[in-house]
Amino acid sequence: MARYTEAVCRLCRREGGKLFLKGDKCFTEKCPVDRRAYAPGQHGQGRQRKASEYGLQLREKQKVRRIYGVLERQFENYYDEAVRRRGVTGEQLLKLLEMRLDNIAYRMGFAPSRAAARQLVMHGHVTVNGHKVDIPSFSVKPGDVVAIKESSRGMVMVKSSLEAAASRGTAKWLEVDFEQQSGKVLAVPERDQIDVPVQEHLIVEFYSR
Ligand code: SF4
Repeated sequence: MARYTEAVCRLCRREGGKLFLKGDKCFTEKCPVDRRAYAPGQHGQGRQRKASEYGLQLREKQKVRRIYGVLERQFENYYDEAVRRRGVTGEQLLKLLEMRLDNIAYRMGFAPSRAAARQLVMHGHVTVNGHKVDIPSFSVKPGDVVAIKESSRGMVMVKSSLEAAASRGTAKWLEVDFEQQSGKVLAVPERDQIDVPVQEHLIVEFYSR
């Protein structure tokens, strides 16, 4: 499967804010966004041109793609599906992305980042309703139980991530049993429960040009 492999902290600096792609490091003073608050590359500190309307829309789309780790074609498919759904298209788009299995595994605290959660899923450590599912884009539904496979419950990364998640607390639309390394999806999140720093209406404008 194709995947983005450039140093991920550059992506945050390109977008001008934290995208929280690296787990614990994002919460420390080692975060490059805090230390070097300018775009990456040779001209990153040069004169900043005012972004055009198109530029702003494009950046917002790229930001969401990077946060959820979704490639362009797949992102377009999500957008098309969001358009077909009833409701505000931008919100539907975020809801679709939130219900991806790798995102749910991350939200439940099984891994410190979405990228690490995607690896967990791809390596077969995650089950949905008791069955192994190794497809990161698998769409989880309310009522589904997502868990770490029994034989994988000793993994150090999962344990330490769950400890950190337990101290941070869990989103209200999820119910997590940190001991059992298992959780239930109670509902599709509402927009105000999705804490991604994006203006999704700009993405809708981008695709409506
Ligand atoms: Fe982004 Fe996290 Fe890297 Fe900071 S540490 S630049 S938030 S990925």
